[in-house]
Amino acid sequence: MTLRVRIGPDVLTVIEAFLTATGAHGAEGTGVVACHRGSSGWWEAALFVAPDQHATFGRFGCSVTVTERGKAELAAALPRDHLYLVRVHSHPGEAFHSDTDDANPALTHDGALSVVVPYFGLGLRRGLDACAAYRLMNDEWVELPAGQRRSQWLVQVDA
Ligand SMILES: [Zn+2]
Repeated sequence: MTLRVRIGPDVLTVIEAFLTATGAHGAEGTGVVACHRGSSGWWEAALFVAPDQHATFGRFGCSVTVTERGKAELAAALPRDHLYLVRVHSHPGEAFHSDTDDANPALTHDGALSVVVPYFGLGLRRGLDACAAYRLMNDEWVELPAGQRRSQWLVQVDA
């Protein structure tokens, strides 16, 4: 299945609000985007779901994990005919995939996407291009640099 995802300003606004709210406490945030297949063949981001999660932070760094309750929430929140195709999480500073991120089991569809937002979510104010993005290919997360390589699979649609 070819998974190409378009994210519009409504969903991005919700993501930014959530990530910056958790960031205001010095914590990373995480969530997934439920998408439905549009008529163009692209999947359209419909809903950002931030499940119950546990953040740790301190002088040795930050991390966030979805709790068991959160996993159940994700299962319950997925609307009919939708798939979770994009994982989004924030980092305190630079955006990149850590080893932990590579091993995160949240999304397993081949072609699934992962977006890392820098500066506790504030980076999203500069749009998706200011974020790091990765695509799952044969069980490996491959970085999609902003530009042509990314825009085949993930685009930001403005209002
Ligand atoms: Zn991370």
